[in-house]
Amino acid sequence: MKSGLLWTGDRELDGGWVLARDGMIDQVGSGPAPSAETVIDEPNCVAMPGLVNAHDHMYQWATRAYVPDGTLFEWLRALYPVWARIDANTVRVSARAAMARLLLSGCTLTADHHYVFPRGAGGLFEALVESARELGIRFHPCRGAVSLGESKGGLPPDSVVEDEDAILAHTEEMINRFHDPKPGSMCRVVVAPCSPFSVTPELMRDSADLARKHGVRLHTHVAETLDEEVFCLREFGKRPFELMEDLGWTGDDVWFAHGIHFDDAEVDRIAESRTGIAHCPSSNMRLGAGICRVADLVRAAATVGLGVDGAASNEDSNLAFEAHQALLLARARDASPQALDARTAWRLATRGGADCLGRHDCGRLAPGKCADIACFRIDDLGHAGSADPIAALALAPPARAQSVVVNGREVVREGRLVTADEAEITRELAGVSRRLAQGPGRAPVS
Ligand SMILES: [Zn+2]
Repeated sequence: MKSGLLWTGDRELDGGWVLARDGMIDQVGSGPAPSAETVIDEPNCVAMPGLVNAHDHMYQWATRAYVPDGTLFEWLRALYPVWARIDANTVRVSARAAMARLLLSGCTLTADHHYVFPRGAGGLFEALVESARELGIRFHPCRGAVSLGESKGGLPPDSVVEDEDAILAHTEEMINRFHDPKPGSMCRVVVAPCSPFSVTPELMRDSADLARKHGVRLHTHVAETLDEEVFCLREFGKRPFELMEDLGWTGDDVWFAHGIHFDDAEVDRIAESRTGIAHCPSSNMRLGAGICRVADLVRAAATVGLGVDGAASNEDSNLAFEAHQALLLARARDASPQALDARTAWRLATRGGADCLGRHDCGRLAPGKCADIACFRIDDLGHAGSADPIAALALAPPARAQSVVVNGREVVREGRLVTADEAEITRELAGVSRRLAQGPGRAPVS
């Protein structure tokens, strides 16, 4: 792979190149490139490490633009009855759409936090894993769960809650079937109960034990809204992060989605404990959840990545756009143009996310790392002539990725998917979305 400008995550190389072998990077350099069997030559592009999506709910692609003006809790209450009717086909079609959009935005490694398993609907987790294999994206599926139904004081309706022993047994089965711990792995399973307000503290504790028994990672939502803080103080007498500390849910094998409402001491404890934060700027703005203290977390040397979150609270899955959103939002929050610079924003979108996911073999372009690369055009109308192309790619909304390589394999070429038909994905998505919208339990659109 040769490019006009190569940003490795640390260095900027004019006329830089990456030589890959068997899915891993062999050499990185600039100037005359060594000969290779296949050459991808992008002289009008910036090439960088493939972007990493640290938080998502891909099934939500079938329920976009519901409750456009609701708070998180209003939005969840309206959507759960619709989500209660998803099946393996809904998940397959939605995941293909989500993964297609992610790949086309330069994302090469993604998590997916799937927590809705309606009674009687089998094969959902399998549909996610198969979709990632087909589209060729590196994948960390997170076996989520909700167990605290409305009748027990939780938020989800009783129809989508699962028995806690069944959750733990199914999670262990998915680890045994799909988790690959080897370097360069294309699939790693994560243990991920949905949030402190939708499962019991006992399930949180048992999940941490299960994950540590198998050496897999832990993920959940924490400190997304003030409503959650009120809930945790009322039910447990603790702030959300304090609760997670007590449940054994901190450490370098844990990452949280959002992490917005932290006080100063909590920001320090997040960093000290090496717990990761997946910042989801578009979703937080869309739901009016608040603004993550990204600049403070970065200053404290915390592990911070970016996530698109589910498309029901973003309406898109464009990871490069999240780097743009994160940069602008951090500057608006702190009323300072120095709050977050473009290269730091790209670092969050690459190695920050990879570190959240425990992938120290991803998110950087260097020998021995995974050959995951994203190339963005800088000769289009949006970017041509920019004085600093790397800054321009974050300051302006980025264009579609021109070329994307995952595991040494080209999966996007000239801005088009190589591994799937975008038009077919779009048609199937429209069909599945229509069916869900027309069924009983249709969410009122406020
Ligand atoms: Zn989420």
